[in-house]
Amino acid sequence: MNTNVQKILTQIKKLCEQRCVRLTPQRLAVLRLISQYNGAISAYNLLHLLRQSALPHAKPSTIYRALNFLLEQGFIHRIESTNSFMLCHYFFELSHNFAFFICNSCKQVTEQTTKGIEEILQNMAKITGFTMFNNIIEAHGLCTKCINIQLHSYLRS
Ligand SMILES: [Zn+2]
Ligand SMILES: [Zn+2]
Repeated sequence: MNTNVQKILTQIKKLCEQRCVRLTPQRLAVLRLISQYNGAISAYNLLHLLRQSALPHAKPSTIYRALNFLLEQGFIHRIESTNSFMLCHYFFELSHNFAFFICNSCKQVTEQTTKGIEEILQNMAKITGFTMFNNIIEAHGLCTKCINIQLHSYLRS
C-alpha cells in the first residue's frame, strides 16, 4: 500500500483512540478506499469497490453508516455538486473552512482553506441581515494536467 495512505490511516486511527470513537473494520475499509482514490468517489462506486475487496457482502447501509461516521469525525468531505466523497487533507484541524476545486475531466478535487473568502462572505451576509452558519464553495474547471492535455490537442489540430 502507498506509504502516504498508510500514514494517513495511522494518524486517523490515533485520532479515533483519542476521541474514544470506534474505527470498526467496515469504517476502516471505507476510509482506506477513499484515501486510495485520487479525487472524489460516489457512494455507489465505493460499494462496488468494497464488494470487490474487503467486504464481498457489503450492503448500501454499510457504506452510508461508515460515511456518516467519517463525515461526523471530519475525516472526509462530501462534494455536494457531484454527490461524492473525498479525504479531508486537514482532518487534524478540528474545524476549517474550505473551498473545493473540482476538475471536470479527471474528477480530481483539490481542497484549499478559505482564509479571506470567509470574511467576505460574512460581510455580505451581514449586509443582508443574514446569519450564516456554514458555506460550501465548490469550483468547477480543469486541473493543470487536463488543461495541458486540452491545449496540446488544440494546438495540434
Ligand atoms: Zn478538509
Ligand atoms: Zn483533471
